[in-house]
Amino acid sequence: MIPKECKRLAEVDFPIATVSIHAAREKSIRHGHPSTLHLWWARRPLASSRAVLMGLLLPDPCDPLCPEAFKRQAAEVLKDVRQPPTSDAELRKALLWFIGSFSNWDLAANSTYLRVARNLVLAAHSDEPPLVVDPFAGGGSIPLEALRLGCEVFASDLNPVACLILKVMLEDIPRHGPELAEDLRRVGAEIKQQAEQVLADLYPKDPDGAAPIAYLWARTVRCEAPNCGAEIPLVRSFWLCKKAKRKRALRHRVERPAGEPPHVALEVFEPRAEQDVPLGTVTRAKATCVACGAVLPPERVRAQLAAQRGGADVQFDPSGNRATGARLLAVVTLRPGQNGRHYRLPTDSDYAAVYRAQACLAKILDEWGRGGRQGLCPVPDEPLPPIGTLGFR
Ligand SMILES: [Zn+2]
Repeated sequence: MIPKECKRLAEVDFPIATVSIHAAREKSIRHGHPSTLHLWWARRPLASSRAVLMGLLLPDPCDPLCPEAFKRQAAEVLKDVRQPPTSDAELRKALLWFIGSFSNWDLAANSTYLRVARNLVLAAHSDEPPLVVDPFAGGGSIPLEALRLGCEVFASDLNPVACLILKVMLEDIPRHGPELAEDLRRVGAEIKQQAEQVLADLYPKDPDGAAPIAYLWARTVRCEAPNCGAEIPLVRSFWLCKKAKRKRALRHRVERPAGEPPHVALEVFEPRAEQDVPLGTVTRAKATCVACGAVLPPERVRAQLAAQRGGADVQFDPSGNRATGARLLAVVTLRPGQNGRHYRLPTDSDYAAVYRAQACLAKILDEWGRGGRQGLCPVPDEPLPPIGTLGFR
């Protein structure tokens, strides 16, 4: 028999308005929140996960089947945060108030609220922590909040990225705490220092001390129009930087050396307007030759790229000069003591560094091969799932 006053209260049940406010607010927290650990696109707010879990884990005091022991213990536990309730309806109201209040991120680590929440959950489960199982836990909001409420938790996911986030957030961080952050910083700094030593030769600095931070490449195909044969860099956009005070783009001019195919030369310049920047050479898998205007259809673009094994690598001749394949469009550098990025055309020294890098990689792969291919391949070679399965490439 449900008391009349409880029936009336059924209309308010879950404190959805309060929880919604806290869940919305959580999105703007940028420091110290698990959402800053790793971007996960379907991350559930912790506020609503915590509130819903509590709602599921606690019985309703107005339910005729609600154990008397829970009501007694819950009333006792709630004393720490609220006037003791004097009836089942008041206890229900107090529990719902607590669920709403505790969904506030500012109270998520408050020791009083944590103790009350965990003791309520224990009271509802004969002092045994309940098991919460989330087989598709994604960003991990539900298992994390279940741990916060003192539950035992199983969490998993089909997606390996999700599994890694879950492992770090639910196991490593709670187990090792701030020490883990310290270790991470220390090891990261060590790796950075070692990598800088090993790789310095492959990322040579400019004579003025500027350090390259990015190399912008383009795949290339050959124009198949009669009497042309120009190499077309496949470029979607010739813009390099659209920032108001640092507008940079590439423009091209065609050089026609006697007895050779036309050559597309590039130049970095400061465009005044959008129309100063040439259109890209590739749209919808079709390539347009900037020397003669001929269009290479998608199937020919694909065939030429397949012949270059995808076209992402530059091919050198035996003396180390670029022969074909990918072409450097521009190099992005940082100059010591100056803000902002600089853009320059590639030089022979940049290609020479790429040549050294290719040789270096070939040596690493050769050593791995001669060592009987022990362990992981130095270049990731796991097969990718076909497109359209999980879509993680
Ligand atoms: Zn052409």
